[in-house]
Amino acid sequence: MDMTSPGVSVKPIKLISGFSPFCETFLSDVRVPVKNVVGKVNAGWTMAKALLGHERTMIAGVGETRRYINLLKRIAKETPVGAKTLMDDPQFRKRIAALEIKHRALMMANYRTLAAAQLGRAPGPESSILKLIGSELQQFAFEHMMDAMGHDALGWFDSDGGALPKHEQWVASQYNYLRATTIYGGSNEIQRNIIAKMILQLPGA
Ligand SMILES: Cc1cc2nc3c(=O)[nH]c(=O)nc-3n(C[C@H](O)[C@H](O)[C@H](O)COP(=O)(O)OP(=O)(O)OC[C@H]3O[C@@H](n4cnc5c(N)ncnc54)[C@H](O)[C@@H]3O)c2cc1C
Repeated sequence: MDMTSPGVSVKPIKLISGFSPFCETFLSDVRVPVKNVVGKVNAGWTMAKALLGHERTMIAGVGETRRYINLLKRIAKETPVGAKTLMDDPQFRKRIAALEIKHRALMMANYRTLAAAQLGRAPGPESSILKLIGSELQQFAFEHMMDAMGHDALGWFDSDGGALPKHEQWVASQYNYLRATTIYGGSNEIQRNIIAKMILQLPGA
């Protein structure tokens, strides 16, 4: 759709940060040329669901989550606890191990989706499982980093001369941003509904 078409209006949503990366788009009797129609007329939701399958697979963020777990380990190794480090603490190691195991399972599930894509199949309802687990793992990784950093986690983006090392400066802001992962791309409650209905074949409400 040509965004300059008559009837299209865009209203920015200003965030608490002062930035405005989001907007509301209103369509009022907008006319779209037939040549611009993707798929069949009135089958937009089918198109949207196909796109959402890809988006949810992407949101699972398998590679990103790997990097987050690596960062968590680095912070734990650099955090002194008595004569040792947080990485030597059995309870903290247990938390990291739980993340690693779930991440490995997510990766294997993601490979199945990728293998299907290589055969030309679009992601199906299993993309809801990927989104659900991937988004939770990203949040857990940053929760553990915040715990590990203690009062250092009160820092925000820092300057070069700041007290926090560069790799820790973005942790608090990213922790806050990642609260949104369980909302965007369809909230995790909605993913659970899809899994219940489409995968487990449970009856709808
Ligand atoms: C950071 C961020 C970026 C985003 N980016 C985009 C974007 O680029 N493009 C875009 O189109 N949208 C975007 N969104 C919007 C996002 O897709 C929606 O916020 C999300 O799908 C949830 O919808 P909603 O906000 O209307 O919540 P609602 O649907 O009003 O849900 C509110 C609460 O009720 C629960 N709920 C609702 N219905 C049910 C149900 N049937 N069963 C159980 N629980 C239910 C939800 O889980 C949630 O907890 C973004 C959102 C955020 C926060």
